[in-house]
Amino acid sequence: NLPDSIDKLPENLDENIKVVRNYINGEWCHSNTGKYIVNNKPATGKVLSYIPRSDKHDVDRAIEAARVANKNKVWSGLPEEARASFLDKIADKIQERFEEAAQLESQDCGKPITTARSIDIDRAVKNFRFFAGAIRHQETGCHTLGTTAINYTVRRPIGVAVLITPWNLPLYLLSWKVAPALACGNCVVIKPSELTPMTANLLMEVVHELMLPPGVVNLVHGYGSEVGSALVSHQHVHLVSFTGGTKTGQHVNTLAANSFKKISLELGGKNSMIVFNDCDVEKAVQVAKRAGWANTGQVCLCCSRMLVQEDIYDRFVQLLTTQLQSMKIGDVSDSSTELGSLISQSHRAKVEYYVELSKTEGGKILHGGKRPAHLENTEFESGAFLEPTLIGELSPSSRTSTEEIFGPVVVIHRFKTEEEALEIANGVRYGLCSSVFTNDLKRAHRFSDELECGMVWVNTWLLRDLRVPFGGTKESGLGREGGKYSLEFYSEDKNVCISL
Ligand code: NAD
Repeated sequence: NLPDSIDKLPENLDENIKVVRNYINGEWCHSNTGKYIVNNKPATGKVLSYIPRSDKHDVDRAIEAARVANKNKVWSGLPEEARASFLDKIADKIQERFEEAAQLESQDCGKPITTARSIDIDRAVKNFRFFAGAIRHQETGCHTLGTTAINYTVRRPIGVAVLITPWNLPLYLLSWKVAPALACGNCVVIKPSELTPMTANLLMEVVHELMLPPGVVNLVHGYGSEVGSALVSHQHVHLVSFTGGTKTGQHVNTLAANSFKKISLELGGKNSMIVFNDCDVEKAVQVAKRAGWANTGQVCLCCSRMLVQEDIYDRFVQLLTTQLQSMKIGDVSDSSTELGSLISQSHRAKVEYYVELSKTEGGKILHGGKRPAHLENTEFESGAFLEPTLIGELSPSSRTSTEEIFGPVVVIHRFKTEEEALEIANGVRYGLCSSVFTNDLKRAHRFSDELECGMVWVNTWLLRDLRVPFGGTKESGLGREGGKYSLEFYSEDKNVCISL
């Protein structure tokens, strides 16, 4: 799923195509290699920008800038209020450029403009404001030993933090890391996905305009196998926050372990939505449409497995397929479009592989499964679109039902009893989240307790409160972020004991 690289920029470059640079020590710079990665718009296949194909030399420069800024305490030495005020200003600036950021995100990811506005950019602004507030209100501890001694505990920044993000929610997920890392006083080096670099670049423009001290925020573009690996294994890095695939996460974990770096891994998922016969079925179907196909199914929290109690199964399928038939797919700039493109042609090929595999595994395509015919001979014919797809009649242990597909493909299973539903839901190697639909409060509580995952929603999905712990169990990751959990991750306690 990697974009191509070129040795030099094409001559007579179209003025609409942006040439992006790295941001190191407060300056814009080209890569050491002079090479570029071609960044295409997934919905049309046309070039959006060229980004530096950086190497270890660029990584060394960025880490050195962060190391020196950290050593000189140009950021950690500021009072919390000053850092919070910078975060608020970043939020203000993104808000001022809201529409530009949404358009960039939509073009870069191939996602509908409405999704980019209402999910991506809206949340990015909120993340900065939230962590500005969180650091203002952070409390520290104090313990006295009678009148003989006093212990006070302060939270210190970790130092140089490397932040690596995926392509599905670029600025949303980046701001979820940058905001708490900066709030806690760290200096950061960012590595956005090579598939979606544009809003990370916009964030660097904002940081530059606000004149954050040089070295506090740095960004190096490039391939994960080149730049990402070099960052994670660098001796002067103290913390790694990684969001991406489980396989990459395993590799990152191994690289970071040698030097005892603090690490957070937010990885893949194969999440279940479990629908009991006593729930509000119409509501469950509305939520299922969102949980299955939001962002074209490319959200780590998407519920790509639906488990429905047998006596409401047929009705649920009928209502859901009616919803899918009316989903508007195509022109991502049209605010009524609900389903955009997949991130790339090669990712669509992977998703289509699973659609074909499901047929050999005994699956029945209940809806979709094909490329949308109405986009042929339009400007979107080279885009990576796929119809919203629902597959039934599979075994819950089939590969299609247990492996992460990360596209608009959802499998649906019948179950008889609570025990059977639990066994199916827990029968995957992932453990990110679940959504349970029931009006029986005792069952909701009992069932949630047994689910092997980090987050459970009852009678809803993706209802976010930024204070609560976010993260997965099993192969969905390590650690928790959000609210005080992020502040704890991006800082560490130091206790001072004074004998009186
Ligand atoms: P990916 O693992 O391919 O890439 C993620 C990032 O890691 C990119 O910036 C990439 O350049 C970098 N990278 C790649 N190889 C690397 C290496 N060897 N060392 C260091 N960095 C490297 O993932 P993706 O395809 O961009 O994103 C999709 C995946 O992310 C899905 O599995 C999805 O479930 C997961 N995801 C998880 C969450 C969560 O919060 N749990 C959120 C969003 C996405």
